[in-house]
Amino acid sequence: MLRLYRLAEDIPACSLYVHIPFCAKRCDYCGFCSEVMRPKTADIYAGTLSRELNALQSSYHGRITTLFVGGGNPLSLGPDRLARLCDSLSWALDAAAESTIEFNPESLDEKTADLLLSRGFTRFSVGVQSFSSRMRDAIGRKGSLEGVYRSLEILKESAVSVSVNADLMTSVPGFTFYDTRRDIDELLKRCPVHHISLYDLMIEEGTLLSKRMPAESDEDMLSPSWAYLQSAGYCQYELSNFSLPGHQCAHNKAYWSQKPYLGIGVSAVSTLPVRGGAIRYAVLPDTDGFSRSGMALGEFEELDMRTWFKEHLMLALRTAEGISLENVRKKFGDDAAAWTADVCSAWTARGCMDCREDTRFLLPEGMLIMNTITTDFFLKSDALAFDPSLDSEF
Ligand code: SF4
Repeated sequence: MLRLYRLAEDIPACSLYVHIPFCAKRCDYCGFCSEVMRPKTADIYAGTLSRELNALQSSYHGRITTLFVGGGNPLSLGPDRLARLCDSLSWALDAAAESTIEFNPESLDEKTADLLLSRGFTRFSVGVQSFSSRMRDAIGRKGSLEGVYRSLEILKESAVSVSVNADLMTSVPGFTFYDTRRDIDELLKRCPVHHISLYDLMIEEGTLLSKRMPAESDEDMLSPSWAYLQSAGYCQYELSNFSLPGHQCAHNKAYWSQKPYLGIGVSAVSTLPVRGGAIRYAVLPDTDGFSRSGMALGEFEELDMRTWFKEHLMLALRTAEGISLENVRKKFGDDAAAWTADVCSAWTARGCMDCREDTRFLLPEGMLIMNTITTDFFLKSDALAFDPSLDSEF
């Protein structure tokens, strides 16, 4: 049995991520593990993935709490491969309280939506990005606007029975808050989604876009966009994520609170908390290699308590819930909790943080300089001593 599954044996509950790396075409800004769909490659990949999911089902006896099928564009598999993937995932779909599938708009039709609903998906996530042809052309977003409109019509019907998220993009150089506001208005007019992920455009080195666009927008579009979404009734529960009441993404919340998760597929990451830190397993970003070797094509990394603590701070700072000093104490000890309270006090004095009982959270002013604050926590934490034998609670 794969060492990863042996390590997961004692974990009573975990989230599951499944990666499908195919897209019809590649966007110019894409930094994800994705490639252009080739039917033969997809056949072999889907076969290996099914075998791996069957192996996981027979070796993991805990409970799958949430499931997320992402990519790439999982719907690029086409109806037959998708139906077979759902067969291999039926045990997880039955168990998970929340099952998300993400996709590109142009791949959704009524039949596919019905298939996904009948197989038990409870959450659909569609990559809209923008309704502006000018912005789509500027960033090299593939797929047509007609496809976006059509998918939103279908999702409007589905929204009665599932939770719907739409991804929008902001902070694109050459565009302003008013462009983002138009996108939000258009989205809400066409489909009253339950959840919006508003992402900054990241221009990653080596992408086609990095050769023609400046690295960053010089306009702050974030604070007015956040305020606009909030005025429309969407609560910002994480830096880039907004939801109506009852529609927060449980799968992402599990990542942010360092719950265990297993990732199956090319480039998928698994993280299992263990006493004194965590174990991470990353499958290499090589689709053909995964098709040949399956989950064996990966590398382990041991995260010591200091690294795990830094991740804890970084993730918690992004959320509206913020850092719970009680959680820090249980996981990392009394000294770490006292140290965290001190650093938070310094940022509170500068007007960037606030507190509610034992939690410390960033104010909008702090969210805007998240990287500076996180770096400050990281640098200062180098002086902190940890006891890896601590009887920490995970
Ligand atoms: S749809 Fe997403 S994963 Fe596919 S190429 Fe575009 S950015 Fe990459």
